Amino acid sequence: MTRHDTSRRPPQLAPAAADRPFPRVVVIGAGIGGILAGIRLRDRGITAFTILEKADSLGGTWRENTYPGVACDDPAHLYSYSFEPNPGWTHRFAGGPDILAYYRRTAEKYRITPHIRYGTRVTDLCWHGDHWQLRLHDGTSMDADVVISAVGRLHHPSIPAIPGLSTFAGPAFHSTAWPSTLDTDGKRVGVVGTGSSATQITAALAPTVGHLALFQRTPQWVMTVPNNPVPGWLRWALRHVPWASGAYYRHLSRATAKATRILTRGDRTGYNQRAQAGLDTISDPALKAKLTPDYGPGCKRMVNSPNFYQAVQRPAVNVVTSPIDHVDTSGVVTGDGRHHSLDVLVLATGFQAHAFLRPMTVTGQRGIALDDLWRHGYLTYRTVALPAMPNFFMINGPYTPASSGSVVPILEIDVDYVMQCLDRIRADRVALAPRYDASAHWVSQVRDRASRTIWVTGGCHSWYLDKDGVPVNNPATRAEFADELAAPRYSDFEITPLAAIARTRVQTHHRPAPIDIEARQ
Ligand code: NAP
Repeated sequence: MTRHDTSRRPPQLAPAAADRPFPRVVVIGAGIGGILAGIRLRDRGITAFTILEKADSLGGTWRENTYPGVACDDPAHLYSYSFEPNPGWTHRFAGGPDILAYYRRTAEKYRITPHIRYGTRVTDLCWHGDHWQLRLHDGTSMDADVVISAVGRLHHPSIPAIPGLSTFAGPAFHSTAWPSTLDTDGKRVGVVGTGSSATQITAALAPTVGHLALFQRTPQWVMTVPNNPVPGWLRWALRHVPWASGAYYRHLSRATAKATRILTRGDRTGYNQRAQAGLDTISDPALKAKLTPDYGPGCKRMVNSPNFYQAVQRPAVNVVTSPIDHVDTSGVVTGDGRHHSLDVLVLATGFQAHAFLRPMTVTGQRGIALDDLWRHGYLTYRTVALPAMPNFFMINGPYTPASSGSVVPILEIDVDYVMQCLDRIRADRVALAPRYDASAHWVSQVRDRASRTIWVTGGCHSWYLDKDGVPVNNPATRAEFADELAAPRYSDFEITPLAAIARTRVQTHHRPAPIDIEARQ
């Protein structure tokens, strides 16, 4: 406990606070993380919470991505909440619409939907000494004792600054903005990018388009993993045998942990051979050469696809490696002077993966802004908390183990940790913020471990690294991360009774000047 931690004494409530529910919790975002936070709040009997969602329906990634072939290339049974298994998954990987339906169903079942306020975007958050004030897009504001940001990570599209892009006469859009009425059958389609989204789109469209030009800046390793049906006996067992779901979940967890260990610190020989074997199915040496990366498998996020390499070998598909020079009204002109005539142009160009909470502005204790806190890199405490931002938590924040298989078990670890903090906040009526030194120490440990992985040593660029090449990804396996976040270590936190803060506010009537962040680190 810190010297501030006098909270074991009975709290003295400010009169205004005494007659309202405590804590009032606001969750930002109604995707997988936000729904989960809601479920766990209700588990604790906390019903004074609101989930603010910018869109008009829930589901996050799975609401926004509707492109042909959208699917999750992590095992479906691991891409479900551990406490809500879905014995109905029919294949190893699930399609986007089925995943969305699962999370919608689950939100209904756990009575989360009445808590969601749709069409509400948070623009600013400001700590007001003993609570947060959230400013909303319409200029109104609301107060919260605890804020849980579950805004997701890969949702601000990265739109490339290609000259002439706006002059293209046909539909041109990011992969997250697929027009619902678009018919690509027989059309000439350009796809920019070769990440997970582009490979899924290419595999889905290749059989039916007239022509598909895949504009590749960097070849991507694609692991050929068949999307096998779940055997009938297993589906039966998952539905009828009480322990089967848990056992299968643990089996998949162990398998993905093994893959993560091999990828980040093990002998990758077998892994590399499997990746190479997929590439070796390409019979045309010129096409194979185009698709062969000059970095090792796993440097960028690995793409798992049952049929990408088949798709690119179709006569209708052309992998274009000459860089895009500009776009004109009727297509794309590449650096070699070729004009690629197109009816549709898809920008599968990824996301601003390092925006995290932004464009929201967050201002914490002593006027410290998030941008100040992150001026020299992403400072967090165990991915979920931020120094100077009391009673504020993030789900899927910087240094989340994004390569540990499915993100859903990781979100569960985040949320369970946040709920333990919330229990403390609630029981002792305190403001709880991680210390700078504890946060900086944790971040430097993660970066040190990550800097020895192929993400850094492999010589590629990916969203696992920040703009300066510093890892923002955590090489921990799910189990290792669970250990790290098993229980809050309160000696790493500054803990201040809210009643004491309220008394100080009455006495001082002024806001202290912002402090120099660098001096504190
Ligand atoms: P991404 O992996 O970031 O890929 C973006 C692609 O666009 C890259 O090939 C990139 O080339 C290319 N690109 C970007 N700007 C370009 C430009 N100006 N000119 C030419 N090419 C450009 O994005 P994503 O495919 O949308 O996937 C992002 C993440 O979302 C994935 O890593 C994954 O975590 C998640 N995701 C998961 C699934 C799933 O099934 N689980 C499906 C889709 C997405 P460079 O490589 O040269 O930068």
